[in-house]
Amino acid sequence: MSPAVEPLKLKVVETVDRLADELEGLSHRIHDTPELAFKEERAHAWLTEFLETHGARVERGVGGLPTAFRATIDGEDAGPTIAIMAEYDALPGIGHACGHNVIATAGVGAGAAIAVALGRLPYAGRIQVIGTPAEEGGAGKVKLMDAGVFEGVDAAMMIHGRCGTQVWRPALGIVKVKAEFFGRAAHASSWPWRGVNALNAVIGLFNALDAMRQQLRPDARVHGIITKGGEQANIIPEYTSAEFYLRSISVEYCWELLRRFTAAAEGAAAATGCRVSVTHDPTVHEPLRANPTMSGLFARNLEIIDFPEDPDDGQAGYGSTDCGNVSQRLPTIHPYIRISPDGVPGHSREFAEWARSPLARAGLVAGAKALALTAVDLLASPEALANARRDFESGAGA
Ligand SMILES: [Zn+2]
Ligand SMILES: [Zn+2]
Repeated sequence: MSPAVEPLKLKVVETVDRLADELEGLSHRIHDTPELAFKEERAHAWLTEFLETHGARVERGVGGLPTAFRATIDGEDAGPTIAIMAEYDALPGIGHACGHNVIATAGVGAGAAIAVALGRLPYAGRIQVIGTPAEEGGAGKVKLMDAGVFEGVDAAMMIHGRCGTQVWRPALGIVKVKAEFFGRAAHASSWPWRGVNALNAVIGLFNALDAMRQQLRPDARVHGIITKGGEQANIIPEYTSAEFYLRSISVEYCWELLRRFTAAAEGAAAATGCRVSVTHDPTVHEPLRANPTMSGLFARNLEIIDFPEDPDDGQAGYGSTDCGNVSQRLPTIHPYIRISPDGVPGHSREFAEWARSPLARAGLVAGAKALALTAVDLLASPEALANARRDFESGAGA
């Protein structure tokens, strides 16, 4: 007979509180040392050391990614696997402006607290913390899934910081696309009429997309940068390139965006006499699939720890995450936890500052607790896990 779950949950909550100073220190260390996708070497070392010190069984470099890891807390028998995901990559130029230092420490904090409080789990199955590199651009979770790291995982969860606590928010699919224009170089003053201007083509593409947005569905997002605009002002640019994300709540509509994008790029090429090449990244980010059962457990655990959900103020749109791909493969949740005041945009310098604030500490602690409690709930109640599976299979709420 498995022990009653409530006293165990209380013990886990107390343990997170005892680990809170250590977790905040770790969060600040990661924040102070921003590392980009697939290069999160120090964060990987600190996080795995933390988990090992507190009694989890750690495997480093899983799935062929040197900065990935898996830490396991075993139960008393064979049974289901509940995964808690941790991200720890930063953004180029603006550091931890997505607050992944909080995601990482909430995730390992949950795992460490379970290991310390419960030792061997008094249930069949296991809880794993999976360290997933490269969320910002590299789709690390897709690589880990392709390598089999999520085989046998029955349910997965993580938290993400934002300017409000919301257990469910949609995330958009993305097709990433690159347009390259090929013209002909010539002296920009003495022979401009002999050149074919690839910069004009890329500017034409941006203008065409600006017009195209009027006829897009409201959830669609098309945004990009010029990654190569020429060499020097006295040379007619012979080569330019631009990268775009094409996003929508449905992957099918992302493909429609790609069709229209390609037509716009071909038009810009024709108008300037350039040749164009449009290529898209084979890895597609998928939208999040909701899981009301798991979201319900998480929301109830937020109530237990007195960290209330906030109403959505409707001021922000939606982002995307490689967690969306996980959610299309197995029951998954990706709740948001407040780490900043209302209205602070993610990927801003302001949000990076909030990711190292007392609010971020509160979010980290609440996130660690709610993740740990939800993982324990799912192991303690085969019925809850079966309901989560049923939600997944029926696409409930997706
Ligand atoms: Zn981000
Ligand atoms: Zn993020």
